[in-house]
Amino acid sequence: MSIEIKGITKQFGAFKALNDINLEVKSGELLALLGPSGCGKTTLLRVIAGLETADAGQILFHGSDATNAHVRERQVGFVFQHYALFRHMTVFENVAFGLRVRPKKTRPSEAEIKRRVHQLLELVQLDWLADRYPAQLSGGQRQRIALARALAVEPKVLLLDEPFGALDTQVRKELRRWLRRLHDEVHVTSVFVTHDQEEALEVADRIVVMNKGQVEQIGTPEQVYDQPASPFVYQFLGDVNLFHSRVHEGWAEVAGQRFAAPGQSDAGALVYVRPHEIDLSRESTEGAIAGQIGHVRLLGATVRLEVQTADHETVEVELVREHYQRGQWQVGERVYLVPRNAQVYADYSI
Ligand code: ATP
Repeated sequence: MSIEIKGITKQFGAFKALNDINLEVKSGELLALLGPSGCGKTTLLRVIAGLETADAGQILFHGSDATNAHVRERQVGFVFQHYALFRHMTVFENVAFGLRVRPKKTRPSEAEIKRRVHQLLELVQLDWLADRYPAQLSGGQRQRIALARALAVEPKVLLLDEPFGALDTQVRKELRRWLRRLHDEVHVTSVFVTHDQEEALEVADRIVVMNKGQVEQIGTPEQVYDQPASPFVYQFLGDVNLFHSRVHEGWAEVAGQRFAAPGQSDAGALVYVRPHEIDLSRESTEGAIAGQIGHVRLLGATVRLEVQTADHETVEVELVREHYQRGQWQVGERVYLVPRNAQVYADYSI
């Protein structure tokens, strides 16, 4: 089931939570809505679900207008951040619920319900918990059951709002891999809300980056990470260093390195460099930025160095652990920085 979202606008009083949103969710894909808190992700998800009515715009489900369709007609399944399992029902009954409340005509037989529920519990790899109550499950297990419950009614669309948001980092990481594998098996058209860029990059087929009620960019994880359409997208997808430069005949220069800068000559250019794309050296080369190592932070496989430049700017440099140890870099040492790669935005002012 594909979903087309055309010109959707939603106001709360004078505040525009969604401002002319246009996008398409392709049939069978897992699309992430990514953006900072308050950018309108949940509102958009609720509009798709029919829980919220848009002030303007249109939503098409599989080509037909569903803008005013009731929630039930849309056949969507939900999973929220805070597990909405029924506490007084076993896992089995929770998953069976959506089938049992169907009108008699479309309600499956008891044997069929049993078969379907066990099949779903196997899919989420928790069949062994069928007789437990939600209070006897871990947070991660509850979310997997919530997903099985949402899938039980065979929704045309699955909507997930920060489903792993309340779980600790390790469980989150496991569950997002698990969700990806599950989606590869069931292929239900899914929209996944998250403010965590790593999660979106790892899980989604495509990512919609949102900011202040608008779409900044839509693309595959590679596209939004490697070709960010705006400084906002670049900054939102990872840590950055910002250098100010000027466009000169299609180039902007930082630390003696030239980077392609589409823009008019003499326009201001913002040059962004990721911490892992900077070389650190004890030898000066032409134009290299001189600095002094300040703080050093261990981030696991990598080490983050803060380098204070002569202009009292702080540049963050990330080195893989072995490189850091081999270099035997010391706090207080004088070093030279040269960016290997950069993303240049000309004519932007911030
Ligand atoms: P978060 O990640 O924090 O959930 P979000 O991107 O999902 O953020 P939304 O929940 O969609 O953001 O909210 C977008 C904006 O609309 C916020 O500024 C919020 O305060 C506002 N908003 C949402 N629902 C309502 C409402 N019912 N009445 C008034 N304002 C609302």
